[in-house]
Parts: sequence; structure tokens; C-alpha cells
Amino acid sequence: MKAAVYYGPREVRIETVPKPSAGPGEVVLRVLRCSVCGTDKRIFTHGQKNVIPPAITGHEIVGTVHEIGPGVDAGIAVNQNVVVATVVGCGKCIYCKRKQYNLCDSFTAIGYDYAGGFAEYVKIPAAAVAQGNVIPIPDSIPVERAALVEPLSCCLNGEEYVAAQPGDRALIFGAGPIGLMHATILKSRGCDPVIVTDISEERLAYVREFGLGQTVNTASGNAVEKILEAAGGEKFDVAVTANSVKATQVDALKLVRKKARISFFAGVPKDNSILDFDSNFIHYNEISLFGCFASNLQHYHQALKMVAREDLPWDRFLTHRFKLDDMVKAYAVIEAGQGIKTVIECG
Ligand SMILES: [Zn+2]
Ligand SMILES: [Zn+2]
Repeated sequence: MKAAVYYGPREVRIETVPKPSAGPGEVVLRVLRCSVCGTDKRIFTHGQKNVIPPAITGHEIVGTVHEIGPGVDAGIAVNQNVVVATVVGCGKCIYCKRKQYNLCDSFTAIGYDYAGGFAEYVKIPAAAVAQGNVIPIPDSIPVERAALVEPLSCCLNGEEYVAAQPGDRALIFGAGPIGLMHATILKSRGCDPVIVTDISEERLAYVREFGLGQTVNTASGNAVEKILEAAGGEKFDVAVTANSVKATQVDALKLVRKKARISFFAGVPKDNSILDFDSNFIHYNEISLFGCFASNLQHYHQALKMVAREDLPWDRFLTHRFKLDDMVKAYAVIEAGQGIKTVIECG
């Protein structure tokens, strides 16, 4: 089969590799679509320690069941379309016992530790199949739109914590694919206003075109002042940092009002992750501050329901499409910060 094989930073080759077959408990999918995540790009540019070359990356997978190994009891049939949950728990730690697989102390992941979706076929390991990671999708959901399910599941994990209510004032830092997904969720939950900030006018334009809310370009000037001005001087009930800029975490704390919920959705560079803020602000104002890492199975099921909605702009998220042969071109588009989601047509 054909696959995009990662040999190290900036070295991806399209090669013919052995097609996987399904052993006991395993499932092989023919990959229909695999969208490119910011993490895939980061691996392409810098590498990552759980991706040992030669490797096949890609975890935002939509496939059709091609082969089911002996002993699989996962409620799936050959030719059924499915999405794949990325994280595989160890099954033994306290978090796995609570079915919080994304928090497993020694999790592994498809597209990192195991071969991923930038190939014609992908094998889903037995532990993932048994955990319920192969999730059927209804025929009513266009295959391509299902490629948004994985990143959307992560956003829904973060949104579960902030629990936005109709009428909440919402602020999102970052208008990349993840920021736009948060804006879509918060808008659909009745938040008003929804304000999205970024330093890229091209990205902010999507927010306005999709009718997701107001925008503030923070490329220059005092970001806090500019945001407050756009917000008519009123602070926010919900704030989400959907970028890896530490300053926006500090800004979020300055821009929320009493009883606000803040999601530090994205991580920041590990050598610059220490914040300096007044903890009494959290205390006296009953501020809740949440982290978020990847997603769990229930978030995939919620995401599937949400991408089925025709009133939300999902199809417009898919701005770039490439064949597997052009994988390197796809990375170039993402590095240039163009568009929203780039999808690889693998099969
Ligand atoms: Zn992803
Ligand atoms: Zn575990």
C-alpha cells in the first residue's frame, strides 16, 4: 500500500509499504480521509519523542472497515464507515479504571506510537478496538466532515468544563481551526457576544464570514484594552485560550468577571510555562480555571452529533484537500498558516 512515511524532521517520503492485516482483536481500515492536525505539522517540523522514524503519522482518521480480526466484538461490520479515537489507555491505571483514557498514566496513541492515517490502510490495535475506539458514523454524515470529529472532540472536552450557558459572554484567543471550533460551539450554545482574537487578519476573516462572532486583531497595541473596547467595556464569563501564547493566558485572567470559567485549552512551550498572577483574584471572584488534554470516547460521540448539524459551518472548515502523494505540499499550506483544515484524501 501507499503511505507517507516520516523519516525525521522535514523528511516525509511517499512509499510502498506492506499492507497491514488484522490479527486477533485487530481491525484494518481503508483510510478515506485523514485531516492534518497542528501536532502532525509539529512532528513534521521538529519531531516528537513518541514518534520513532520510520513512522506513519495522522490521527484524524475516517475510514471504512476493511478487515476484522478474529475475536473482535466491537459492533462493527465490514464496509461500515468509522472514525477512530486516538488515545489508547493502558487499561490498568486509576484513570483507565475510571474510563478516563485520555488521562492514562502511560497511554499510547494512534498516529504516534502506532501507525496512523496518512496511508491507504491503517491497523487499529486490539487494545484500541476493545476500548471502543472504532466508532461507526451514520451514513448521513459526509465522509469528509467526519474528519473534523477528532479535533472537535477535543474542543468538546474543554467545553464540558466551562459549561457555557445562553447569554454568557465568551472570549476565544486564537482563530485557528481549534479557535473556530470553540467559537462554533459557544455560538451554538447561545453565548453573546462571542469575541475571537488573533494576530492574523486572514484567520479572523473566517470568524466574520462564518457569522461566529466579533473579532479583535491583537497584532499591535494593548490586547486587553482593545478586547475590552470591542466588548463595550464588559468582561467575560467564559474564556478559552486556543493558541500556545502564554501572554493570552495572563490576558484571559484580566478579562473575566466573577464566576467566570477559563479553559487553558492549548499548552504553551514547556520552557516558558510559568505564570505570574494574583491568586486572590481567583479566590475572591470565584474564578474556575480548567485544563484540557485530548478527549475521551464520549466526546467523539458528542462530536459526531455536532458535525451532523447542517446549521453549523463545518463544510467551510475544510479549505484544502490533497492526495496522499502531495502530503509534503499539505504541510507547506499549514506552515504558511493558510486556510483552516487541510484534509488528505488517502484512499
Ligand atoms: Zn488532532
Ligand atoms: Zn491507564
